Amino acid sequence: MKKVSLTGDRPSGPLHIGHLFGSLLSRKETEIENESYVMVADVQALTDHFDQPEKIRENIYEITADNLAVGLNPEKTTFFIQSKIPQIAELTVFFSNLVTVNTLKRNPTVKTEIAEKKDLFGQEGESLTYGFLGYPVSQAADITIVRAEVVPVGSDQLPMIEQTREIVEKFHRTYPIKGNTFPLPIAKLSDAPKIIGLDGSAKMSKSLNNAIYLKDTPEKTAEKIKTAKTDSGSSIKELTDPNPSPSIYNLVRIYALIHNQKIIDAYKELDGMKYSPFKEKLAKDLNNYLSPIRERREELKPDYIKEVLDAGSKKVLKKAEETMALVKKAMRIDY
Ligand code: ATP
Ligand code: MG
Repeated sequence: MKKVSLTGDRPSGPLHIGHLFGSLLSRKETEIENESYVMVADVQALTDHFDQPEKIRENIYEITADNLAVGLNPEKTTFFIQSKIPQIAELTVFFSNLVTVNTLKRNPTVKTEIAEKKDLFGQEGESLTYGFLGYPVSQAADITIVRAEVVPVGSDQLPMIEQTREIVEKFHRTYPIKGNTFPLPIAKLSDAPKIIGLDGSAKMSKSLNNAIYLKDTPEKTAEKIKTAKTDSGSSIKELTDPNPSPSIYNLVRIYALIHNQKIIDAYKELDGMKYSPFKEKLAKDLNNYLSPIRERREELKPDYIKEVLDAGSKKVLKKAEETMALVKKAMRIDY
């Protein structure tokens, strides 16, 4: 039996190599084994970009192009836009009764993101919106609307999946029916669940200006790697330190990923190499690695991307109606 799998990306910017190694490549395996959905999370992206709808609109196409360019097959993976499924918003309202404000405030990912968005939410989070605080609830609705069993994500998303499981369990306790309304979803991490930023910050992210985008030109890629943070050393040393320098480790890790090597073997190979030639080699090899993805991306037409999203959204709409019928029956509001 195929499992139902759902994952998603926020259209807050084009996708980067953190997404590639952390998520996109494993989606290719997922689509073979599972009934696979990829959601473009425009409603979620609006929670911290509510005043930039044009940016979100543009990036819906960008991130779908990134997914398709990596080789995902729209015959196997259903791509859809979150806002095209109003049942997600409806389910979010019902779920919001099952989670406390304090629980959301304690969510480690939400806490980190609020701290990163001081411009938007204030130094102490005093301008935090109800919408942003509640996005984990909406994410629980994204996952459960297709009754997903598996959720492939990067490690920053683990608290979100835990939150979803808590909501599902509370829903089942509160509105019991024979059999359960939803499966209890599990998170699935890839081999590279967190690529850190080129600036050495905890996560490569579209919102932090520290990423190499799949759509970057080879020149831009080389320039970003050249200025990436290193450490006070001057050459790569074999990996013996249990706490290696994180920014160098991250660059070597990217090197290992593109060469399909174990990190320890990449360190061995690069032992003694000065940072500057290493960065040049990394840029050259990464550009070679990304070149077929970039070529495919160039060939994708906006009309085709729109067709893929329209067809997928229609398909999910049907499934969402089925789910809401089950939800309303369980909640005894199927008047
Ligand atoms: P934003 O800053 O807008 O949140 P993002 O770069 O975090 O953007 P998302 O769209 O939130 O990207 O994440 C999409 C998926 O990619 C999630 O499963 C997330 O865990 C994963 N992901 C994001 N960044 C990384 C990273 N640096 N390394 C590994 N996986 C990542
Ligand atoms: Mg994110």
